Amino acid sequence: RVWNFSAGPAALPQAVLERAQREMLDWNGSGASVMEQSHRGKRFIEMAAQAEADLRALLAIPADYAVLFLQGGATQHFAQIPMNLAGAGDSADYIVSGHWSAKAVSEAATYVRVNVAASGEADHYLKLPARESWQLDPQAAYVHYTPNETIHGVEFHNIPDVDAVPLVADMSSNILSEPLDVSRFGLIYAGAQKNIGPSGLVLMIIRRDLLQRAGRPMAKIFRYAEHAANDSMLNTPNTWGWYLAGLTFQWLQEQGGIAVIGERNRAKAELLYQAIDGSGGYYRSPVEPSARSRMNVPFTLHDAALDTAFLKESEAAGLLALKGHKAVGGMRASLYNAVSLEAVKVLTAFMQDFAQRHG
Ligand code: PLP
Repeated sequence: RVWNFSAGPAALPQAVLERAQREMLDWNGSGASVMEQSHRGKRFIEMAAQAEADLRALLAIPADYAVLFLQGGATQHFAQIPMNLAGAGDSADYIVSGHWSAKAVSEAATYVRVNVAASGEADHYLKLPARESWQLDPQAAYVHYTPNETIHGVEFHNIPDVDAVPLVADMSSNILSEPLDVSRFGLIYAGAQKNIGPSGLVLMIIRRDLLQRAGRPMAKIFRYAEHAANDSMLNTPNTWGWYLAGLTFQWLQEQGGIAVIGERNRAKAELLYQAIDGSGGYYRSPVEPSARSRMNVPFTLHDAALDTAFLKESEAAGLLALKGHKAVGGMRASLYNAVSLEAVKVLTAFMQDFAQRHG
């Protein structure tokens, strides 16, 4: 298989895919695929509960938080979160640190009065707006931020303190990548397609008191309290996604848990940033060092005329999906959990070799 640096949908652990392949025709002694059976059946319900229990153990999720397995992608929840957490006339604070938090603002604005409390736009999202500059409103329904910006490659390395206002985090591209103090958050959500499983599944961890909020008038299917009351089976869940997420959680446990994964991710990112910084200017990271993401590493070549050759040759060498997002240009290597240290070694060796050959 290729070395896959895709930003998402992204690489899944090889062992997870192999196990899914083995179980494809006969899951759990049922004589059928997991996709072919009722979510109301005993086998599925047990698997679903185990996946939740494994996630709870991995992140030490406190009992006063509900775990939901939802659908709609993270984007749907940009809108659904204000519908649930904000009443008519309420405002919410948003920290804009890149493409995805800006998108969260534009989708939320239909349902809540958005206060952009801080923005990195003037710095082209190459730095994070310093916590001291945030203009937070103590009356806000919640504070929303994006701890890791997948496109701009900036990451908050500390959880911001926002006093008593619930902190809402879009962790689509950094969930399960390092140990996390869940108790600091009101709501965490993540599209699954980077560190969890296939797209179409959204994981949500929500403090139970927030489920009591009336929010806006809405159909039941949008109401998180209904999903929680029905164990995320208000309607047919994404059974395949839930199953694969469960396999990924087991794989994370087998690796030694999130602390081990966090160390590995730190080592991977360090290796790549060292290769960039140590290249004598051949490669450059545009992001301020203190804000550099461990998960998504954008970089440029000293001469953009070499981009095409870099992409062509890297693909020929089995290095997949290094093209940067069009909003940023250049290259981007995504280093999610399923990307091994070995993969990053192959990438950095390729980069050094390319630089020598193309001088
Ligand atoms: N938020 C972040 C941080 C992302 O990287 C993405 C990209 O997948 C999204 C939200 C959008 O997710 P989805 O495509 O699941 O709606």
